[in-house]
Amino acid sequence: MSICRGLPIIVLLLASFTSLAQPPDPGQGVFLAIVIDDLGNSRLEGERVAALPGPVACSVLPQTPFSVHLAERCQSAGKEILLHLPMQPDDPAADPGPGALMTGQSRATLQSLLHAGIDHLPGVIGVNNHMGSYLTRHAAYMDWLMEDLSQMHGTLFVDSMTTPHSKALGIARAYGVATTRRDLFIDNDPSPEGVRAQWRLLLESALREGSALAIGHPRDATLDLLETELEGLEARGIILTSVTDLIRFRQRETTRWQEFSSR
Ligand SMILES: [Zn+2]
Repeated sequence: MSICRGLPIIVLLLASFTSLAQPPDPGQGVFLAIVIDDLGNSRLEGERVAALPGPVACSVLPQTPFSVHLAERCQSAGKEILLHLPMQPDDPAADPGPGALMTGQSRATLQSLLHAGIDHLPGVIGVNNHMGSYLTRHAAYMDWLMEDLSQMHGTLFVDSMTTPHSKALGIARAYGVATTRRDLFIDNDPSPEGVRAQWRLLLESALREGSALAIGHPRDATLDLLETELEGLEARGIILTSVTDLIRFRQRETTRWQEFSSR
C-alpha cells in the first residue's frame, strides 16, 4: 500500500482517539501502566495505593472486607478500577478466594460471578485475573468469559499472565475485547532489593519496547518504592498512563505496523 493510500486510514484512526484527555501518541514518549492488584483485604495498604501519584490502576478482589471502600477511594483519586477476578490456579492447595471461576462451573455460574463482581464495585472499567494458571489455559472457559465481556461495552481485560500458556489474551482479541498483557511483576521477590531490581528491569523494558505494563501488590517495599519513584518518571522520558490509554497506544502501534508492513 502506498503512503498516500494509507494516509486516510491513519487520519481516521487519529480522529477516533481525539476523545482522550491526553491521548498517548507514538513518538511522544514511552508509556508505562501500573496495576496494583489484590486490593480489598487490607485497608491501610489499599489507601496508600489510592494516594499514589498519577493514574496507577487499582484492581480489587470481590467479596473482600474493604473492596467497596477502596474502589471508591481509588475512583475519587481519579484512578481506574479493575475487578481482580479470582480464577482456578494450578496448585489445588492454593485458595483463589471468594467469587472464583473454576472448571466444572456452568456458564450461568461463571456469568453471575463476573456480573456480581463488576456490579458490586463502583466504576469498574475492566478485569484482570487473580491466580488463574489453570483456568486461563482452558479455551472453553476463556471463550465464555470473553464473549460476556464483549457484551459489556468497553470493559477491558488485562491478562495477568500467571502462566505462559494462558489463552486469555488471544481469545479476548478474537471477541474484540480491548486487551493487553502484563509484562512484569514488580514484587515477586517482595524484599526492598528485589522490588528495586524489578523496577530497574521494568524501566529498561519500557524504554526498549516503547511501553510496559507492570503488576504489583499492596506490600510495603512496593508502596515505598512507588511513593518515591513515580514522580521522577517523566524526567526519565517515561509517561505513567492509565490501562485504557496503554491499550489504545498499543492498538495504534499495531495498526501502524500493519500499515507499514503492507505497503
Ligand atoms: Zn492477585
